[in-house]
Amino acid sequence: MNIRDETVLRELNLYPLWVRRGVPVTAESAPASPAPIEGARPEPAVSGEPVQRQAEAPATSTLNWAELKQQVHDCTACKLRAGCTQTVFGVGDEKAEWLFVGEGPGADEDAQGEPFVGQAGKLLDNMLAAIKLKRGDNVYIANIVKCRPPNNRTPEPDEIATCLPYLQQQIALIKPKLIVALGKTAATSLLGRETTLGSLRGTLHDFHGTPLIVTYHPAYLLRSPAEKAHAWEDLQQAVSAMRELKG
Ligand code: URA
Repeated sequence: MNIRDETVLRELNLYPLWVRRGVPVTAESAPASPAPIEGARPEPAVSGEPVQRQAEAPATSTLNWAELKQQVHDCTACKLRAGCTQTVFGVGDEKAEWLFVGEGPGADEDAQGEPFVGQAGKLLDNMLAAIKLKRGDNVYIANIVKCRPPNNRTPEPDEIATCLPYLQQQIALIKPKLIVALGKTAATSLLGRETTLGSLRGTLHDFHGTPLIVTYHPAYLLRSPAEKAHAWEDLQQAVSAMRELKG
């Protein structure tokens, strides 16, 4: 999106803070770009950082969409299923270039069976609109875990490990050009590195050959609206990366 498109940004409540604070909008007044985008390649472990293996991706998808949806629907492989209303598979364009990955369903998603339909979902829709994207149109939205954790707690490592192969199968079927990990759980689960969200932002990571960008989770942005300006930088970085990926 053109940074001068002030009306849209203001309506979306994504209007960058540096603008809302009265700094005139010029190319120069926009915040400096985050760290340069690195090529899409595996990153070496940083010394001193706990090393975890990156989530394994199947070489090829062995299931078709119908089979995968049925498997998720029928899954009772971890303790989350007993406490949720239904599994929340994912939604959108099954051939999307963009894949947005959140943490897990909340109460609204659990009730409706679709990811990101509550307040955080409204903000995600606004974030998509800010970069001229729309749910379901070249966009797929999924979660790390398909069942709502009790009281919206963070999914536990065993629950993530059990559920991740479903997302990996989704990725293998969609073949997105770019993955946007929303929040720390999505980012660290996919990258297999326990570290801060801040340290993962601003870099083009690699998820088994698919470029991956990290930004804040919309629920966090609802609690910390000052960070929306940083999320906006991440989205702009994602748009630039997609432009480059498409040549
Ligand atoms: N938060 C998530 O991470 N996923 C959802 O689907 C909803 C809220």
